[in-house]
Amino acid sequence: MKEQDIIEIKDLLSEPKKIVIVPHKNPDGDAIGSCLGLYHFLTKLNHQPLIIAPNDYPEFLKWMPNETDILKYEGHTESCDKIISEADIVFTLDFNAFHRAGQMEAILESSSAVKIMIDHHQQPDPYAKYMYSDVTMSSTCEMVYHFIDMLDQTELIDKNIASCLYTGIMTDTGSFRFPSTSSTTMRITANLLDKGANGSDIHNAVYDNNSESRFQLLGCALRNMVVLPEYKTAYITLSQEELNNNNFKKGDTEGFVNYGLSLKGICFAVIFIESQKEGIIKVSLRSKGDFSVNEFSRMHFNGGGHTNAAGGRSTENMKSTIEYFISILPSYKNALNS
Ligand code: 5GP
Ligand code: MN
Repeated sequence: MKEQDIIEIKDLLSEPKKIVIVPHKNPDGDAIGSCLGLYHFLTKLNHQPLIIAPNDYPEFLKWMPNETDILKYEGHTESCDKIISEADIVFTLDFNAFHRAGQMEAILESSSAVKIMIDHHQQPDPYAKYMYSDVTMSSTCEMVYHFIDMLDQTELIDKNIASCLYTGIMTDTGSFRFPSTSSTTMRITANLLDKGANGSDIHNAVYDNNSESRFQLLGCALRNMVVLPEYKTAYITLSQEELNNNNFKKGDTEGFVNYGLSLKGICFAVIFIESQKEGIIKVSLRSKGDFSVNEFSRMHFNGGGHTNAAGGRSTENMKSTIEYFISILPSYKNALNS
């Protein structure tokens, strides 16, 4: 962030303000962790922040401190629109284009509040007056830590803030194993432990609450996996019927796509998940090395994200989506084999 931006933000935050914090639709650990971390920090600065999430999020995030304070836009659009229209400042966290906030796109578009973006995805839209965008960052949670540091306020970081930020760094780095995990990420994580985050408890809360039905669904996903060695690619499909048969709940498929990527010799993994409610096939893409799933998803699945992790969607049915996917792989053969 520019020096001048920091000075202006310090000034902006020097008196109590009405602040709204927004994560992306279908928020993950980094989105909820960064929003709650910032929420606790701004509360300590005597502001009145509110978090408005576009929709609900998985159970495995529902232990986080003050998680129950988060408002859901879905089902409460009128009251949330009012709050946003009266806000002085809107922070958008872990996304960089209004359409990523789903149904909240229109109200964010029309809001005259000062926008502050904190985000690590590629190709940001220039909607924010203050843009803290850095694609080299492991997570938005790491950036919220840097943001607090730029405001010279790290002494305000307590156990609540530390626990929230730790959660998002852990989930977005695949428990500190993805290449985005820098030595700075580790130093910040160490500071968060010193501030009271309990890494072991947080890992337990997020990852060790599996239901039996989730494992049945994982079994189904792994049986459905197709490996295409000539493209170093593995993909998984899950139909709505398979989800229903295995008592699917939000978040159950989190991480499934990584199984494809953990196969020997595979550098590109995709999972296609049918959503009857939305009338789409949700696509999650992961890669190892230089193959950019961000570009692949932007080009073919109306999505985006990072070089090694992206999402997207298809409005065709599963069969046509898979046929399309297989039809475009030959044009990536060199890129996937280099
Ligand atoms: P996931 O596959 O876990 O849904 O998403 C992987 C990464 O890509 C996350 O960082 C997520 O925020 C991002 N992402 C997912 N879907 C989209 C999308 O439609 N557009 C963009 N720009 N990013 C996405
Ligand atoms: Mn993130």
